[in-house]
Amino acid sequence: MNFFTSQFKTRKNDKIEHILQERNDETVDIYLYNTLTKEKDLFKPINEKEVKIYSCGPTVYKDATIGNMRTNIFQDVLRRMLKYNGYTIKHVMNITDVGHLVSDGDEGEDKMIKSAREEHKTPLEIAEHYTKLFFDDLKDLNIEIPEVICKATEYIPEMLEYVKELVEKGYAYETSTAIYFDVSKLDKYPVLSNLNVEEQKAGARVDVDPEKKNPYDFALWIKAPENHLMKWDSPWGPSYPGWHIECSAMSRKHLGEQFDIHTGGIDLIPTHHENEIAQSKGVCGKILANYWIHGEYLLINGGKMSKSLGNVYLLKDIKEKGYDPLVYKLLCYTSSYRNKLNFTWEGIEASSKSLERLRNGYQANKNGTDTLDEEDRKELDRLENEFHKAINDDMNMPLAMSFVWEVIKYPKKSPEIAELLLKFDTVLGIKIDKEEANKEIEIPEEVLKLVEERKQARQEKNWAESDRLRDLIKEKGYEVKDTKDGMILNAQ
Ligand code: AMP
Ligand code: ZN
Repeated sequence: MNFFTSQFKTRKNDKIEHILQERNDETVDIYLYNTLTKEKDLFKPINEKEVKIYSCGPTVYKDATIGNMRTNIFQDVLRRMLKYNGYTIKHVMNITDVGHLVSDGDEGEDKMIKSAREEHKTPLEIAEHYTKLFFDDLKDLNIEIPEVICKATEYIPEMLEYVKELVEKGYAYETSTAIYFDVSKLDKYPVLSNLNVEEQKAGARVDVDPEKKNPYDFALWIKAPENHLMKWDSPWGPSYPGWHIECSAMSRKHLGEQFDIHTGGIDLIPTHHENEIAQSKGVCGKILANYWIHGEYLLINGGKMSKSLGNVYLLKDIKEKGYDPLVYKLLCYTSSYRNKLNFTWEGIEASSKSLERLRNGYQANKNGTDTLDEEDRKELDRLENEFHKAINDDMNMPLAMSFVWEVIKYPKKSPEIAELLLKFDTVLGIKIDKEEANKEIEIPEEVLKLVEERKQARQEKNWAESDRLRDLIKEKGYEVKDTKDGMILNAQ
């Protein structure tokens, strides 16, 4: 299979396609660590060409942290790696805008409603606000947007249908507060995590709903109190979905009963994902996905990120310190997605220097004039294959980066090497070809003077003069924009 053609179809530079086509690339097996088997499994998709992936997306009730973004970064590398290997992707990600309770289980308030009350907004306003911020972060991190994005509140009929099927098949029962999934009806529970059902039974907590048949039974559908903000008609009266049913219903709708890969953060293993599996086994007797891939946590200075410690960082905090947000993506590549990663500002500074060196290295090759001989090509082919093997080995990014650095440090500089770096960047997604990395643009004195004069004209409400100066600034190659946060000057 020659995958270069498909890889570079969207690139403007046809030359890249041509050069990469000439390279002799081997097919390399892909191995992924599968939480279901607790082993690195050889990856074999159900369909030869298209890989189907489902990722649990954000609950849009607060800002996404850089910890949340670490999970999104590893999921981005996964899809980019699969595309590098010639696969097309159908990737579905949900937006949870209802049903995720504060306790991550069946207790507490709905996170959306709690946030709406605290911020004096409607749940819809909260969802819209935080969904937009989430996608802004993905864009800043050059994370590819999944092919399908589905909001939970738009799939209520599919969820209801799923619950009805579980009730009909005898896997669910009604109490005065909810419709519960009966885990004792399964041949095996748990299958993904290390939950100890027997131990939990012995020490069952007294505050758990006494109507539950088993402590691990979980709510599929929750009956809404009278003044509850988000509720829908159902055979059980006004009610709303449980958190786990959302993903089961939406993945079935878009990917079918069985698909290739299911991803999420490590905290989802014993709760959300275990219960998604229970639901799909109940409804069709199968585990919904063949490979379950989970990303480890980001730590801050060696500990947890928490509001009380005042160490919750957002991507905007990194940007506000003047760093390119892709510096954070590069920091994530210093560790395997399966290991804890420690965030420090020193780490960000070091990654910032690395990003600058990578981009400068790319430019040096783009403008390089050295001629490559047979020996050089052999060595570059070796590095290309090593990179390929590293990304295919459960996305070993620290190892993959070591080969990127070898290419950057290669003694000869040539556009052919720059093109190899561009190929690597289809997986890294760090915009290696971006010029002037982390450098402030030097604005000529005369342009700054015109900008000052325009500011003065605007203060005096002399709009004609302001427009004249804007045109003059434009002639000098700069564009001024007036925003509600002040004026922005861009080089054209
Ligand atoms: P939360 O904002 O706590 O609801 O988290 C949403 C998802 O982001 C979780 O399911 C985790 O998988 C992931 N996540 C939260 N915190 C971190 C962290 N510090 N590092 C990596 N992933 C995280
Ligand atoms: Zn989910």
